[in-house]
Amino acid sequence: MTDPREQAAASLPNAEIPNTQIPGVYHRRIGDMVVSAISDGYLDGNLEVLINVDRSEAERLLGEAFRPLPGRRTSVNTFVVRAPGQPAVVIDAGSGTYLFDTAGQQQKNLAAAGIDAKDIGAVLLTHMHPDHAGGLLDPDTKALLFPNAELVVHEKELAHWLDEGEYAKIAGNPMHERFFGCAREQVTPYLGQTRPFTAGEVMPGIHAIDCPGHTPGHSSFLITSGNESLLIWGDTVHVPEVQVALPETGVTYDIDPAGAIATRRRIFDMAASERLLVAGLHLHFPAFSWLKRQGAGYALVPEAWDQAFRPAP
Ligand SMILES: [Zn+2]
Repeated sequence: MTDPREQAAASLPNAEIPNTQIPGVYHRRIGDMVVSAISDGYLDGNLEVLINVDRSEAERLLGEAFRPLPGRRTSVNTFVVRAPGQPAVVIDAGSGTYLFDTAGQQQKNLAAAGIDAKDIGAVLLTHMHPDHAGGLLDPDTKALLFPNAELVVHEKELAHWLDEGEYAKIAGNPMHERFFGCAREQVTPYLGQTRPFTAGEVMPGIHAIDCPGHTPGHSSFLITSGNESLLIWGDTVHVPEVQVALPETGVTYDIDPAGAIATRRRIFDMAASERLLVAGLHLHFPAFSWLKRQGAGYALVPEAWDQAFRPAP
């Protein structure tokens, strides 16, 4: 006699083994707003980019955090902010086609979230590096990927990347030439719809905080609704395990390394003292975390999946 369970199993198809991750989309309610982390993918790199830290110490911290070694795997995130009665706002545009094909996924993940890029009312940039401003337009067709959006960016950021004198200073350095090339190619077509800012409320409920150092106009955005806040701290860290524990650690593409350290210390102090929920463009997806003091530095405590998330009543 055959076991009926065996017979039933024999008629089932073999399981399909997934070979891609589900779309990188995660919603977090902040008061009556919703901030959605939209993954742009990730970038693998080496530890040579870290400055002001012993290589062995960086490897030890990454190893203790069970991160893949050697090297680093860096999340690239973008965010969508939605408030009742207003068009959606995007924070940063990911890396487009400028870096590796493990990134440049923002448009795909926006679509997966049911968001049409044509409906975006504003794109806020933390800064104009290629992993943040690389997805504003299609470099082949030159079509604007956010055709109806106002581009909102710190005035010092625009001044730096579009200035011929600044470009002349780095001419001959392939990495910096690439960075300038991307910033100009991506942002120039938006200049007719660009609103530069210095500080303060840049959109309803969104305040820009000056964070110079990584780039001259590098900015964080503090989102507040009701009694809840979220600090999207831009590129305060690139390799969180190392730079959160050792805030003096910088990266080779910090334009003003001392300024970047001072900004990181100020933002860390603010986040820890005020018990602010933070998110970063390079925190591991979906990026929502808390920061606590630990030893001479800090530690990140990623927020658990927000089970209580509810759509607006
Ligand atoms: Zn970055």
